[in-house]
Amino acid sequence: MKRIAFFCIPAHGHTNPMLPVAAELVKRGDAVRFYSFDEFEEKIRSTGAEFVSCDEYLPPVTDEEMENLMNVNTTEMTIQDIRTTLKMNDFLDKEFAQFKPDAVYSDSVCFWGKLNAWKHKVPLVCSTSTFAFNQMSSKYMKMSSRELSGMIFGLPKISKELKTLEPYGYHVKSALSLVQNDSKTDTVVYTSRSFQPYAESFSDHYAFVGPSVFSTLSPDKSKDRPLVYIALGTVINDRPDFYHKCMDALGNTDIDVMISYGKHMDKKLLGKLPGNVQAYPYVNQLEVLSKADAFITHCGMNSVSESLYMATPLILYPQTSEQRAVARRVTEKEAGIMLNDDSAKGIKQAVTQVLNDSKYAAAAKSCCDDFRSCPGVKGAADFIENAPHTSGGTDLLAEVNKGNKWFYLCYWLIACALMALWGFFISWQFVWIIGIVAGVLSHPISGVFFKMRYDKLAKKRTVNGV
Ligand code: UDP
Repeated sequence: MKRIAFFCIPAHGHTNPMLPVAAELVKRGDAVRFYSFDEFEEKIRSTGAEFVSCDEYLPPVTDEEMENLMNVNTTEMTIQDIRTTLKMNDFLDKEFAQFKPDAVYSDSVCFWGKLNAWKHKVPLVCSTSTFAFNQMSSKYMKMSSRELSGMIFGLPKISKELKTLEPYGYHVKSALSLVQNDSKTDTVVYTSRSFQPYAESFSDHYAFVGPSVFSTLSPDKSKDRPLVYIALGTVINDRPDFYHKCMDALGNTDIDVMISYGKHMDKKLLGKLPGNVQAYPYVNQLEVLSKADAFITHCGMNSVSESLYMATPLILYPQTSEQRAVARRVTEKEAGIMLNDDSAKGIKQAVTQVLNDSKYAAAAKSCCDDFRSCPGVKGAADFIENAPHTSGGTDLLAEVNKGNKWFYLCYWLIACALMALWGFFISWQFVWIIGIVAGVLSHPISGVFFKMRYDKLAKKRTVNGV
């Protein structure tokens, strides 16, 4: 029997995939203590795990901070994560001394879980509720200019906040080192190798176990009329304007429509529903998806994984850079289309396209087969019980990065030689222009060089069957 401490931030999308893993470990006879928040108590207790409430350690937030959190502002989330870690410090020191966990299973952005595992020298396994992001796969995260400027202006605030952790024995180099997936931390990712972008760039410390769901249902699409399911997740779902456009597009047609509008919105805002539309604040999403023929989604990782697990093609309406990354992967697999025009006309066109062209359903079915062949929850439980892991294979990114210093050395030697030649044979007066051009071009040229080396090494690994 092992003692395993689970940690997660107060968010359904992060908590949900950890629950079947907790249930599996409890079934095996392990002692699972789940540090979470009252909102999730019932769900957690139903897995058989011991629930520990951490609500009293959430730092007080101003109205402005709360608004930032509701808008998924990453700077604000990072700052609140750090403050919560500080407030939990004494409590978790006592808990680690008393519970003596053999392993910590922490959501990858739950700082107090990760930092305390490191501080108390307990093997850490991270739970990543989205794709694993590293140097390669983060290319999928195209930040909007608003997100990018918010992040740049937020960095000094985060660095200041990080310094407060130091006296408590938490040593953090940078915020990035806390949130990114490095190649040495044991990590469970709830998707398949083939759905994870650049899966080959991750070391053996990564277990791609496939979606973690509580469902024994299989897809069953047999019915008289098509069913379209609409949901924008559990965070930014207060969008009566969008639900109205969906009803204008699909109301009073020969399609059945189910809307999950979230717990923050008053149902009255939807007005009188057309006869073919049903709307609820929360539904059993997996059950609905098992029957649905198309899903209009905000592209949260869980929603997309659950949809493909149930062979349901998607109409993609992402709102954040992370969701845009997930949406891009779905379009690459041809299991859905982007909703580029969110007017009633655009919604109708997108739904018609997905329902009428069977290639989307076929692609979703092939993702479903792929997901269902993954190690799943049992694989995640094995991986946690056997932590820490050693990496037997090579670390592809580390290998590619090694080549970078040689690239820069050669690049600047060539640039200097060009400057010298120009100076000797033409003029010394404008030599500095070559220096500036070389500086500006170094980034894109190194990017091309890096990608070429990456592709070559990845191919070599595939040929060698690594
Ligand atoms: N969910 C649900 N019923 C609903 C709406 C959402 O069970 O009516 C669940 C859904 O199955 C998924 C989670 O809430 O597991 C939403 O997570 P996701 O990552 O898709 O989005 P987030 O809420 O984090 O934006």
